[in-house]
Amino acid sequence: MDVNLSRCMSCSAYSLRNECPKCGGRTMTPHPPRFSPEDRYGKYRRRLKKMVEEEATE
Ligand SMILES: [Zn+2]
Repeated sequence: MDVNLSRCMSCSAYSLRNECPKCGGRTMTPHPPRFSPEDRYGKYRRRLKKMVEEEATE
């Protein structure tokens, strides 16, 4: 799913259009983050899960 989500520069509302539905201001597409915080936590979670599994099989 590829949603081109834009954000209003005036009221920070999210919109799929170039114009804000709330205040009529201009919206712009934010730059995609280099990494997702969720992915980072997912890495920790996987590592923790692996540690727990190794401990359990020992
Ligand atoms: Zn707005």
